[in-house]
Amino acid sequence: MKIIETHELTKVYKMGDNIVNALQGVSISIDRGEYVAFMGPSGSGKSTLMNIVGCLDSPTTGTYSLNDNQVSEMTENELAEVRNKEIGFVFQTFNLLPRASALDNVALPLIYAGYGKADRDEMAMAALESVSLADRYHHKPNELSGGQRQRVAIARALVNSPSIILADEPTGNLDTKTSYDIMSLFQELHDKGNTIIMVTHEDDIAHYAHRIIRLRDGLIEWDRRNENVSRSS
Ligand code: ADP
Ligand code: ADP
Repeated sequence: MKIIETHELTKVYKMGDNIVNALQGVSISIDRGEYVAFMGPSGSGKSTLMNIVGCLDSPTTGTYSLNDNQVSEMTENELAEVRNKEIGFVFQTFNLLPRASALDNVALPLIYAGYGKADRDEMAMAALESVSLADRYHHKPNELSGGQRQRVAIARALVNSPSIILADEPTGNLDTKTSYDIMSLFQELHDKGNTIIMVTHEDDIAHYAHRIIRLRDGLIEWDRRNENVSRSS
């Protein structure tokens, strides 16, 4: 079942006389349950593509359908709802609220989704359990390690049972061992059937994904199944 389908996406940034063709015709099709890495050097268009896929930005030309819905035809309210319910975002910098506990950080998307407090706490606790952090639910971000913060962010991304997890350089601020721990968690999420798209410029991190799409100068340079999926022990 197709979850993401883009057709000939282009993105042009104009800044005065300066024109950047960030995407120059990107067509991709991703099925439910796939684990994909977008790779490529700095400036190749990875963030631009991920922002379009995450419904944070729109293409200059081309079409994007998510779960068979044309994203360009959605209203601002529909887009906000898709971002909240269909997509779980994970960022390099974790983006946690510093004064809120792990539980409250994870529960945040549920406030926007309209759940009451008791449901929010129960769902957030279950999400924390799924990343093995239930025992730290009352800790604030500065009382947690980098890897634990990222696990809180992943629990927050999962809490609404989104269609896709979009992770932008999820290991960019983590040391090597912690990065592998996070990749092992992604592998578990993939095994449970989650659809994961990860943006990374690191080769060894990309090799945890089962499919790698490499961008270069705003175009797909190659798109292939990863025959040697890395696994952390
Ligand atoms: P990557 O994530 O692979 O590093 P980006 O998608 O961030 O690549 O950038 C692709 C190209 O678009 C680069 O040349 C970058 O400088 C340019 N670019 C990205 N965002 C903007 C923006 N908001 N305004 C102007 N140019 C941009
Ligand atoms: P970078 O990869 O450059 O460190 P981020 O990963 O923090 O940047 O953000 C990537 C994009 O997502 C940016 O365009 C940013 O505005 C947007 N963004 C950041 N945080 C959120 C959020 N919590 N919800 C939705 N969009 C966000």
